[in-house]
Amino acid sequence: MIPAPFDYEVAESVEHAVSLLGEREEAKALAGGHSLLPLLRLRAVRPSLLVDVGRIDGLAAVRDAGEWIAIGALTRHHDVATAALVQEHNPLVSHAAGTIGDPQVRHRGTIGGSLAHGDPASDLPAVLLALDGEIDVTGPSGTRTVAARDFFVGVFQTALGPQELVTEVRVPKLTGDHVWSFQKYRRRAQDWATVGVAAVARRQNGGVAEAAIALVNMGATPLRAAAAEAAWNAGEDPGPAAAEGAEPPSDTFASAEFRRHLAQVLVRRAVAEATAA
Ligand code: FAD
Repeated sequence: MIPAPFDYEVAESVEHAVSLLGEREEAKALAGGHSLLPLLRLRAVRPSLLVDVGRIDGLAAVRDAGEWIAIGALTRHHDVATAALVQEHNPLVSHAAGTIGDPQVRHRGTIGGSLAHGDPASDLPAVLLALDGEIDVTGPSGTRTVAARDFFVGVFQTALGPQELVTEVRVPKLTGDHVWSFQKYRRRAQDWATVGVAAVARRQNGGVAEAAIALVNMGATPLRAAAAEAAWNAGEDPGPAAAEGAEPPSDTFASAEFRRHLAQVLVRRAVAEATAA
């Protein structure tokens, strides 16, 4: 289908983008276009103005920020996957970014777009949630930092205000004591996860502490599997509790019941892989 008519402006800076987004109620930012353009073509969204933020300088860099790795919002999935700083300090993030879609998707889609889109089937939101990451958001009143746990509000809904842009994403540096795994079950190579699992913990006294497990596509937002985390911390089987509290969707890819089963299998695999490393 052909998109409904819209105006198009190129933003030259974050401030310019914020100001352009304020010009119309129905304005939308455009980054890699890999989620927005399909929605436009389906006429599922009909913005009157597209503000192209994809050419703003300085938002596609990865930098060392002390205890964190900071990733600019326009950094493409391929660059997140291959950046030496991310590979060295947070291989969970680089590995998960490398599983997104296919090479075309990874060369266009951006980390900021992936988070702002708020799709519970996307991978990086759950990874960020497991890592207790932070998201910088810039709007008319300046920049604020939102914790990943507060950012995802509902299906395609985030804490972003209408004139706000994601500008930077921060993930903690993992140490040699950390163990991690990312598991993704999908029917075809380039599909979104039917269910995905991001798991990370710190080795301690022959077991683990600070276990964090986040689920992809098991509810309206990415979810922390608190009961499975407690089981992992206690050295018990986290599988049975993996889907506790989750309300997975039923769709053409899988029933809710099958997703619950998958969550159990994938959480077990994630913990086994993480602790075997
Ligand atoms: P856009 O499409 O440009 O924008 C998406 C939304 O975010 C829009 O509402 C836009 O207004 C908003 N937005 C964009 N950037 C910002 C910003 N900086 N600040 C505020 N709002 C912003 N994703 C996965 O996680 N896993 C997969 O396996 C996967 N497979 C895919 C397969 C295919 C075939 C396709 C087409 C996409 C797939 N995706 C997958 C989605 C892909 O990762 C998208 O690139 C990503 O979700 C959106 O990033 P974008 O830069 O393309 O955003």
